[in-house]
Amino acid sequence: MDLSLARREAGATLEQLADHVGVSVSELSEWERTGKIPRARAARVKWGLWAVRRDAVLAKSGLAECEALAELAATSRPSDAEVITDHLDTCATCIARDEYIKHHVGPMPRMDSGLLLWLFSRDWGTGWKRSATMGALFILAMGGVGVVLLLSRAVVERDPTYLLMALGLFVLLVFSGGMGGVVHHLTAPLRDSGRAGSYLSGILTVYGYLGAVYASIGLVALVAGWEVLGEDMRGLVATRAGWVITLVMGALFGLVLGRPDRD
Ligand SMILES: [Zn+2]
Repeated sequence: MDLSLARREAGATLEQLADHVGVSVSELSEWERTGKIPRARAARVKWGLWAVRRDAVLAKSGLAECEALAELAATSRPSDAEVITDHLDTCATCIARDEYIKHHVGPMPRMDSGLLLWLFSRDWGTGWKRSATMGALFILAMGGVGVVLLLSRAVVERDPTYLLMALGLFVLLVFSGGMGGVVHHLTAPLRDSGRAGSYLSGILTVYGYLGAVYASIGLVALVAGWEVLGEDMRGLVATRAGWVITLVMGALFGLVLGRPDRD
């Protein structure tokens, strides 16, 4: 997509589109100049183009603006989204504008796709708590299938050992994901300092996650003895080769996670 052309066809200035997309004007003009939009922002840009077209069409339509909606939007918090949704469903002025937009601009493009984006767009509080929650949810989304498999095995084989293992895995996923999230939060200043800092933050985040995993495994070994870990696990956590593999793999994942394009 030629972003610059699309924006001008929509009749919007850089400032107007940047405002809708939620980025700075310099960032947006960089995207227009290089033709590269970060993948994580593509849906948002699409929505922004739709929104500037909607604004232009509505301004020309002569339809009255809804003052009640403007007031609601100005006074409500993000968590009151239902109040606004209720208004949009019942207000005659808003419904008329909505119909007009559908006919003259087209339907609103979806901003979110998938469970992860939904999770990440929820209001989970602020600061390190938010980061820890999102980290835990992220790791749960990736490893939760293991918990489900253990649970179903506990049912099929009527063996409560698997129930314990499922619980243990769940706690491990939440704890390690949360730790990764906290490190990600603590290393935010690094990400603001440039590309190298962004990669470093990614690596430290993965190491924070792995550190929590290893600490948990170590705790289990300490309490129940090394025998419970099994041969493969012992090779990974109790040998130098295992540590080297883990550190190198962790760094590689960290580089992917720390890619400066990501938010
Ligand atoms: Zn209204």
